[in-house]
Amino acid sequence: MTTTTDLSPFGLRETPEGLLPCGACGIATTPDRLTPHSVLSRIVAMPHGERAEDVKDGATVDLPTCDDCRALASTAEAIVTAHPHLRHSLGSVATWRVQSALYALSVLGHPISGPDIKPERLWALVNRLGMPGALAPYSRRFSPTWLPGATTKRSARERWSAVDPFVLSDCQRGIADVTVDMRPARALDGGPCSWCGARSAYGRRTSEAWPGDGLCVTCWLTKRDGGGWYDAFVAYIDPDRAIRRHIPGTLDLDGIRPWSQSHGGTGTAWSHSGDRNALRQHVAHLVGITVP
Ligand SMILES: [Zn+2]
Ligand SMILES: [Zn+2]
Repeated sequence: MTTTTDLSPFGLRETPEGLLPCGACGIATTPDRLTPHSVLSRIVAMPHGERAEDVKDGATVDLPTCDDCRALASTAEAIVTAHPHLRHSLGSVATWRVQSALYALSVLGHPISGPDIKPERLWALVNRLGMPGALAPYSRRFSPTWLPGATTKRSARERWSAVDPFVLSDCQRGIADVTVDMRPARALDGGPCSWCGARSAYGRRTSEAWPGDGLCVTCWLTKRDGGGWYDAFVAYIDPDRAIRRHIPGTLDLDGIRPWSQSHGGTGTAWSHSGDRNALRQHVAHLVGITVP
């Protein structure tokens, strides 16, 4: 049985009277402009392990945001405004993903990127640091699940000093992958990916970018997980699952074919099928929903 324990007690200190931990970095902060964080369940310690208990509607922990973390949030918004393709690709979660990636950079003590960041680097940061960064905020101790021993009476000794060591090492691995992603693109030896038509991939060794079956790594992973070209296509146009949440079964995507059956395109994924955003809007329309 696994036990969730507070792995970073040394990074914590007693919250001074009248202050609360910043919901992001955890440092003790003046409690003005509080943000509510929803508590959906609570881990309760039992004699032989622990169990999760549901928390009834509307429970929140209200935490402030320190000036530095507020600045990070504004920078994330400015980056998304300056790079509209991000919102096209990621949908409504674009700002949150960028903000999480900036959290990870801040956790690691790396310089924080600004709106002038190169698109390739921004994409790599969001892909590699978006998830580990999302687990870094202090509010994760309370939301969505209240962890045993979590209390606002304790704050981070320094910004991010209370980040779980596992999250910290995921952030470190993520930034290493960003470096790999920034290597030049590699062409596929045997011609374009037979599903999406991509002719090159970023970063990895050739064997990792093109693992086999005539597929790029993205399509190959879909195949490995039991999916077909249709699933790879839908994942491409619906990265935030906004559409798939509304599809009970398989959509009739008239006219969409894998690259091996239609050819053409510019060598980027699914370009033989048309413009990604137009395809996304088209498919959303078929399902009867509006997407950003
Ligand atoms: Zn903060
Ligand atoms: Zn592919």
